[in-house]
Amino acid sequence: MTVINDQGCGWLNLLPKRTNIKFLNKDEHCEFLIIGAGYTGLSAARKLSQINKNKKIIIVDAQLAGEGASGRNSGYLVDTTLNDGFTSNKDIENYKSKVNIYKAGIKAVKEFIKEYQVDCDWNECGKYFASSVVNDEKKIYNFIKILNKLGFKNKILFQKDLYKNLGTNFYKIAVHTEGGVLLNPGKLVRAMIDTLPENIKLYENAELLKWKKNGDKINCEFKKYSIKTDKIIFCANGFLSNLSIKKRYNFPITLTASMTRKLTNEEFRSIGEPKEWGVLSIRPMGATVRLTKDRRILIRNTAELKNPKFMSNIDLSERIKSHKLGLEKRFPTLSKNLIEHSWSGIVCRSGNSSQIFDKIDQNIYVAGCYNGSGIGVGTFFGEQIALVASDQKTDDTKIINDIKKPNWLPIQPFLNIGIYSRLLYERIKATSEI
Ligand SMILES: Cc1cc2nc3c(=O)[nH]c(=O)nc-3n(C[C@H](O)[C@H](O)[C@H](O)COP(=O)(O)OP(=O)(O)OC[C@H]3O[C@@H](n4cnc5c(N)ncnc54)[C@H](O)[C@@H]3O)c2cc1C
Repeated sequence: MTVINDQGCGWLNLLPKRTNIKFLNKDEHCEFLIIGAGYTGLSAARKLSQINKNKKIIIVDAQLAGEGASGRNSGYLVDTTLNDGFTSNKDIENYKSKVNIYKAGIKAVKEFIKEYQVDCDWNECGKYFASSVVNDEKKIYNFIKILNKLGFKNKILFQKDLYKNLGTNFYKIAVHTEGGVLLNPGKLVRAMIDTLPENIKLYENAELLKWKKNGDKINCEFKKYSIKTDKIIFCANGFLSNLSIKKRYNFPITLTASMTRKLTNEEFRSIGEPKEWGVLSIRPMGATVRLTKDRRILIRNTAELKNPKFMSNIDLSERIKSHKLGLEKRFPTLSKNLIEHSWSGIVCRSGNSSQIFDKIDQNIYVAGCYNGSGIGVGTFFGEQIALVASDQKTDDTKIINDIKKPNWLPIQPFLNIGIYSRLLYERIKATSEI
């Protein structure tokens, strides 16, 4: 079965068409092979090329590079998160190490865009954690306590101010944190592809089907050809378990999102001409909603266990109904037919929201599983796994070693039953926020 996402992603479809696509058309050999060309794989490739100038490096992707989650996400480069268990002080040490990872992620992306002069609509406007339910006040105040302990500037806001800032009356309470960045994820990953150094070969539509260690070489089979490599780095994120990599530690989750056309001047005026903003729900299954720099509204309000390799148009249209409903609730005065782009994408999750960064065997490495927050962490982990695979250590490797390892997941069918029930429970709890 082939990994193919739908063709509906707004970020990707609004970019100019690519002209630098190459396919695997012969057997190859190399010193480093990277599987997956999203933020993680592309950052690993860039770093490998800097430290291994004379080595042969190949990166492959089953679909077009950057068209996995990296080109399909909501564009929040986060410094803090709320929905991976951090609403109490219980595990503050773990939160601290996570925050260090997020910081390192922001730094890694910032350095990349500075070095290559990348325009990805970078906006250091922070983000809102919001709720439409006044009773969520307690959860927000608990979160604020943690933010204060960790030194994150934040501000609580209520409906009137939120209406002024966001152009919707929907949210009753929110906390705004300053440190996060909003960006255009498609532009970012496109820049990572276009700036790949000359000594790297990128092959697209090249799905790794089988691989086997044979002595000191690793043999990788694709549809027609094969690649023999000394070292391999798996950066396939949502598809890691499909490749049987750390299978007992991660599982894929499918998200869907829609983006409207640009609001007209009149529509924009009718919602008070707010500046660009991004809202995350304080409930795990609530909607992520963004007003983009070019006045489009993005909504992502589904997360489910589904065949990660395929979503039919019929299935997608069902999810679009939920996106429409979410927009109508927030912007009742705007047209009901604003949606221009809709798509699905795959993220990778672990049982305890920890990431994966590992050497799984001699010359075999893996980085991934960002639990829905992989723009910065993926960029950072990609660079760091390249260093580890090149036998180099940095202080940053310590930051990664400080985070908890993902925990052991139940075997099937208990795993899927557990995930279904948890998602259903969270979805019911978040009904008002979808
Ligand atoms: C709708 C949505 C919203 C999100 N919002 C945010 C957000 O706001 N902020 C945030 O930080 N993160 C967000 N994420 C998560 C973020 O996009 C990911 O964590 C990040 O892109 C992971 O990057 P990656 O390079 O590891 O994986 P990917 O970008 O998924 O790249 C992995 C690549 O591996 C390839 N691959 C898979 N199997 C094979 C194979 N067998 N052979 C060859 N290639 C293979 C895939 O085709 C894919 O291109 C979101 C994700 C989605 C889907």
